[in-house]
Amino acid sequence: MNILLVSAELAPFAKVGGLADISSALPIGWSRLGHHPIIVLPKYRGIEERYTITKTDITIQCTVFDTEHSFPVWKSTLPGEHIPVYFIEADDLYDRPGIYGNPDGYEDNDERFYIVCKCAFELMIKLNVKVDIISAHDYHTALLLPLLHETYSIHPLFAKSKGVLTIHNAQYQGWYDLQRVMDMTKWQQESYMWKGGFNALKTGIDHADLIIAVSPSYAQEILTKEFGEGLESVYSQYSHKLIGILNGVDYAFWSPEHDMHINHHFSIDDLSNKLMGKNQVIDEYFPTSTIEKSLPLLGIVSRFTDQKGFDLLHGVIEEYIQEEKCRLIVLGSGDETYQSFFRDLQSHFPKLISYSQGYDESLAHHILAYSDFFLLPSRFEPCGLTQLYALRYGTIPIVRSIGGLKDSVQAYDFNSQQGDGIIFQDFTHEALKTALMNAFSLYEQTHHLHCIRHNAMLADFSIENTAKEYINQFTQLLQ
Ligand code: ADP
Repeated sequence: MNILLVSAELAPFAKVGGLADISSALPIGWSRLGHHPIIVLPKYRGIEERYTITKTDITIQCTVFDTEHSFPVWKSTLPGEHIPVYFIEADDLYDRPGIYGNPDGYEDNDERFYIVCKCAFELMIKLNVKVDIISAHDYHTALLLPLLHETYSIHPLFAKSKGVLTIHNAQYQGWYDLQRVMDMTKWQQESYMWKGGFNALKTGIDHADLIIAVSPSYAQEILTKEFGEGLESVYSQYSHKLIGILNGVDYAFWSPEHDMHINHHFSIDDLSNKLMGKNQVIDEYFPTSTIEKSLPLLGIVSRFTDQKGFDLLHGVIEEYIQEEKCRLIVLGSGDETYQSFFRDLQSHFPKLISYSQGYDESLAHHILAYSDFFLLPSRFEPCGLTQLYALRYGTIPIVRSIGGLKDSVQAYDFNSQQGDGIIFQDFTHEALKTALMNAFSLYEQTHHLHCIRHNAMLADFSIENTAKEYINQFTQLLQ
């Protein structure tokens, strides 16, 4: 089948978080199953300097706010694949720092993301591609679905198309000014007003033929007030078309055997290089430390938002570091509260805490591959990819039992020697403290450490399985 995927992020071209990884992994999975994905995304600043992309002879004409615009189209493929990626050029909208505009988002994000959606349809018309599935991702490209119903479903290329919305994070919804959106789209206000404004995610949900949350647990959680972010009644209304499919991993990119960002490769049969890698990371990121390298190394790689639960570290990590129970290496950026928390920690404990602020793909791979434990104490977690990556490298996840973390990490049981992670339930300092203590104790027990690592590395979250589940759903929709 032909699947049009439009996303705000796509690895490796434009990445902030997991949305980028899965937006490229899914089409790779679909393509391996014999389907034909086509990807469209905005041509953000700097893409053409970092990647090989070429300008096509296609230009899309689109009317927005009563004015006709021309958008040149560029093309590339996902690295190592034949999957086409089209980039919509609109320098006044996309030639800016970053993707969304932090911290509050660019004021014209409504227009920026509406245009990429509209251009995606127009591009399919230019290319004469009959689209079976339109795959929208989060609020950014949720507007594909009202566009299908309002404008394009009468076109022969889209007459049988089905629209699927994948929700990667229900917290971000795209609240726009209603009048401005009506002026931009020429849609009728009555059917789009929601709580006095325009909510892009809600609009996508209304028009979707199927809604996929990125884990089965999250599909249940968003039905509740605690996790629905104000849209729980909408999810409940549409629960008949809401399912959960756990995200997957492209192991060609994220595995200890093939990872192109690390140099000490290893496998389940021989972990000696994992230890070499850990020692190398310690030499590089704790250069003045004389404290023994054999302490357990905890890793964090994250966007910093309150979602990720790092508030729980307050008081707990200081205590363990003072007792020299572990080392901590952190990579991340985002909310200033967390940035300054980790900066302060590093300056208090430079021998045992290293903090790198910013985005660094290579360091992310090093931390995931070479740490002993990976910490994700999330308040909520729709799926979470880093724990899936960590598992494959035998880096034991310490996670809260929530959303996709609950669906992907099994608590290690000392009796049966089954399980691959350390799990805690309550969102409390005490619960995290106990989880860390259990981790340190497990680390001392060579046999159990070997078992848990072995189990972790055998856990299989390959993208092929996720892609298959999507295709099964698409097939049912098209019947
Ligand atoms: P989320 O999408 O909520 O940020 P996920 O676990 O789904 O969380 O995905 C996070 C992705 O972003 C992973 O690929 C992770 O390695 C990457 N990542 C997060 N922060 C950074 C960073 N500062 N530098 C490099 N990669 C990062």
